[in-house]
Amino acid sequence: MGLREYLLDSAVDFLFPPACPACGSPGSAPFACPDCRASLRRVREGEPDFEAARARLREGRVVDDCTVLWYFERDGPLQALLHLVKYSGRTSLGRLMGEELGGMAAVRAGQFDMLVPVPLHPVKLRERGYNQSLVIASGAAAQAGRPVCPEVLERTRYTASQTRLSPAGRAQNVAGAFRVPPASRSRLGGKRVLLVDDVLTTGSTLRECALALREAGVSGVQAAAVALAGGEAQPGAIS
Ligand SMILES: [Zn+2]
Repeated sequence: MGLREYLLDSAVDFLFPPACPACGSPGSAPFACPDCRASLRRVREGEPDFEAARARLREGRVVDDCTVLWYFERDGPLQALLHLVKYSGRTSLGRLMGEELGGMAAVRAGQFDMLVPVPLHPVKLRERGYNQSLVIASGAAAQAGRPVCPEVLERTRYTASQTRLSPAGRAQNVAGAFRVPPASRSRLGGKRVLLVDDVLTTGSTLRECALALREAGVSGVQAAAVALAGGEAQPGAIS
């Protein structure tokens, strides 16, 4: 996080002392009020929606496995929280979510050498000022005890928003959109990577990232995301 974002975030916290960012009621420990937190639905192994998403990611052994924190529910508190993280500069909130993600057993076990956030295109990064996936990855890295290496993967095409696209359209939209910069290739040979994103929907983006990393010689790719959005329940403003 840059100094500007940090100061902005600190100023927001100062001007608006802890109230639940999702519903506005008092009490925000650690990042939402008890009611909002209790309404977040944890993703668990064996549940059909999760296993379907997992199978899509693993198809062709592109991604080895994935970890997801909560189910995305339209108009639910998680949508509000992620929207703040993605569009309103609430990076401290994103970091807390990342820490929660990093605290999950599958991530905490640290079966990887580095964390790599799904990159934004440089134009979008300039517009937004920060990459929300990098913020989340930083929180997860603190828990997992592994470094975050955002520089090893870049988005080379400015892609349209995935929000209104069909699953097939999403796959086409991000095909070939990522690459490992030549200067980073030597750092990836034989390494195991944990890819981090905010929302997992069809898995097209994570698969494309994994393909670029595999092409550069990584020996394993796992994926982690804060939210799992169903194919039908498209996350509206989040994409
Ligand atoms: Zn709340």
